[in-house]
Amino acid sequence: MRWEDIDEQIATKVRGQQFACRRGCAWCCHQLIVLTHWDDGRQILDAARERMTAEEFEAFVERLRAQSREIHELGHEAAEARRWTCPLLKEGECVVYDVRPVACRSVFSPDADTCRAMMETDDFDTLTPEQQATATAIGERAFSLQIAVNDQRPVDGPVELRELLVRLIDAGDYRRPSG
Ligand code: SF4
Ligand code: SF4
Repeated sequence: MRWEDIDEQIATKVRGQQFACRRGCAWCCHQLIVLTHWDDGRQILDAARERMTAEEFEAFVERLRAQSREIHELGHEAAEARRWTCPLLKEGECVVYDVRPVACRSVFSPDADTCRAMMETDDFDTLTPEQQATATAIGERAFSLQIAVNDQRPVDGPVELRELLVRLIDAGDYRRPSG
């Protein structure tokens, strides 16, 4: 499936609803991301390598490895309770926006302030009742949109983004820079 088709399918399902989401808004980019279709990871790495300088890419891989190691040590469930600033963010913007994971494309919020509040607390109970309701709706919507897309594609298996990218890098399984 092409990204255009995936975006169109998602857009059809959320049509008519008002969201605050826009490129460059990144309060939602501080959590674990699970991919089930590993070619998405190859595309992300290709794009990151193309768009970063050699030094930036090296620093990115270092951040990936550090986070991946820490998540592995904590275990996925415990790690989910913490904030993990996505290594693909550069100056507050996703470097690979056009090929970002389905999980990222499926997150829609009517209110960026709620996303900010969610990012700034580790305790769901500190959110207002309205924020809690919004947060729950964001999660449920994202889950159902992801399932709808991923059900139509071959499933390689669920792997957290950072772990998958490290695996692909170690296997040399992406388009490497020439020269
Ligand atoms: S989900 Fe929230 S943080 Fe993410 S783009 Fe939308 S409004 Fe911004
Ligand atoms: S891949 Fe891009 S959109 Fe997804 S969490 Fe990372 S920076 Fe945000």
